[in-house]
Amino acid sequence: MYIYFGIIVFVFGIVIGSFLNVCIYRIPKQQSIAYPPSHCTSCSSKLKWYDLVPILSYIILKGKCRYCKHNISIRYPILELITGLLYFFIYVKFGIGIVFMKYAVFISIMIVIGMIDFDTTDVYFKTIIVGIAASIIFLLLHYYSGEFIIDYIYGGIFGAGILSFIIVITKGGMGWGDMEICLVCGLFLGLKLTLVMLFLSFIIGAVIGIILILSGVKSRKDYIPFGPFVVMASVITVFVGQNILNWYL
Ligand SMILES: [Zn+2]
Repeated sequence: MYIYFGIIVFVFGIVIGSFLNVCIYRIPKQQSIAYPPSHCTSCSSKLKWYDLVPILSYIILKGKCRYCKHNISIRYPILELITGLLYFFIYVKFGIGIVFMKYAVFISIMIVIGMIDFDTTDVYFKTIIVGIAASIIFLLLHYYSGEFIIDYIYGGIFGAGILSFIIVITKGGMGWGDMEICLVCGLFLGLKLTLVMLFLSFIIGAVIGIILILSGVKSRKDYIPFGPFVVMASVITVFVGQNILNWYL
């Protein structure tokens, strides 16, 4: 039973990943995520359902549009696969329940925000609004199941506060978009895990930043978006944040 649920969750995650691809592609272009239906970005041919089976269609079509043979980025199936795997691991760690839903929603929103930041170095306010709204729904669910929710509100205030402080003292070393991302993370993770997340994002940012500069991909003057590091740190925190805290304390 356990493994069947695991497979269902994995496939569900892949399908959601396919939707996240649409969001990541369309939101920066100010397009609706619901209309028009999926089409080739090169020849605009409307895609049939069998062109839209996540991962499998990509393999069958060998990464090319059925109609114009335009190359389709391998990023789409990879992101679908990663989303499926993350959903599977959330299920393995937390089982099926509110916590699963909460972290699945959280990680999905973070993937969209992080990838758009990576592509455009911008954070779109509508993605932040969705994050805040979703966090409020889960806060209410926590509240009505008798949990204290003040810790999550402190988490949001702390995440946003630390980033605001850094932005002000470094005069724009980071953007206000990063502050908004950390606000959403704080509301989902709570105070202690937000601390772990921030700590990890600075470490990941420093390590990847140094690698990018040493390898010549970026120069010291280039802007490297911080959002993707926050997203990576958040995903790690969901899975092992509590272990890191226990180990540290
Ligand atoms: Zn095409």
